Amino acid sequence: MSTNSSKGTALITGASSGIGFTYADRLAKRGFDLLLVARDQSRLEALANDLRANTSASVEVLKADLTDVADVAKVEQRLRDDAAITLLVNNAGVALNAPLSEADLGDVDRLISLNITALTHLAAAAAAGFVARKRGAIINIASVVPMIPERFNAVYTASKAYVLSLTQSLNAEIGEKGVQVQAVMPGATRTEIWERAGMDLSAFPAEMVMDVNEMVDASLAGFDQKELVTIPSLPNAEDWQNFVNARLAMGPNLSLQHAAARYKTSGA
Ligand code: NAP
Repeated sequence: MSTNSSKGTALITGASSGIGFTYADRLAKRGFDLLLVARDQSRLEALANDLRANTSASVEVLKADLTDVADVAKVEQRLRDDAAITLLVNNAGVALNAPLSEADLGDVDRLISLNITALTHLAAAAAAGFVARKRGAIINIASVVPMIPERFNAVYTASKAYVLSLTQSLNAEIGEKGVQVQAVMPGATRTEIWERAGMDLSAFPAEMVMDVNEMVDASLAGFDQKELVTIPSLPNAEDWQNFVNARLAMGPNLSLQHAAARYKTSGA
């Protein structure tokens, strides 16, 4: 794909609706060219036409089912080969609405293959290209649910804990090599994901649900501030830093030669 933009091309997964759709709009207006990925080609084409008409972005559509190994490989290859790509928004994801003991394991496998496996493959491919070119950024869309695992179903929550952890480690691996990495942790946001998963967003108090435009604008503000982790609604950024500091404070005691005194039995 030829690029018009000095910012390069943003590859956005799950761009046909919700958060990904909104990133596409904002990034086109910021001067990125776009490569839009999802399964629904007609919705992607409609968005692409709209953005071509209303911005100067060059927009390409790439239909892919990211639970399909061959389709993931196709997108991955594009990330490895296309030096115009400077930003990956790893956004496509699904939710579930069942406790693990009652879940359809086919649904569980599809969630894992999209939220974890595809996201990992695309992050790896992007990281390789961006490190080689010493330029690029990866935005991984996680969620706040890893902060409240007791209150949300196990598989979706664990998949988003994975995204957060992957992003933190990836930043340690490549953050100093010219590649910016961000995990975005939205709270409940008004998109189709709830209905798709058979959940009723209207059951949430209105004060807990953010409009998708506000959520994406806040996340991009966090990106501009070079935040590693952005929680759009968190009023006090120090709360997150205190949480990280509490974790780091345990560091010196997490791997020691001897067990803690409370685990020592009389026979030992
Ligand atoms: P959404 O409106 O349902 O959008 C999901 C996007 O993912 C769609 O573009 C969908 O497109 C795409 N997608 C789904 N299955 C796919 C597949 N197999 N292959 C390729 N693309 C696929 O939901 P959203 O709220 O914007 O979700 C975006 C991300 O935000 C997800 O990772 C979600 O977990 C996260 N998130 C959402 C909320 C929230 O409250 N909305 C909160 C925290 C985190 P097609 O159907 O066209 O493929």
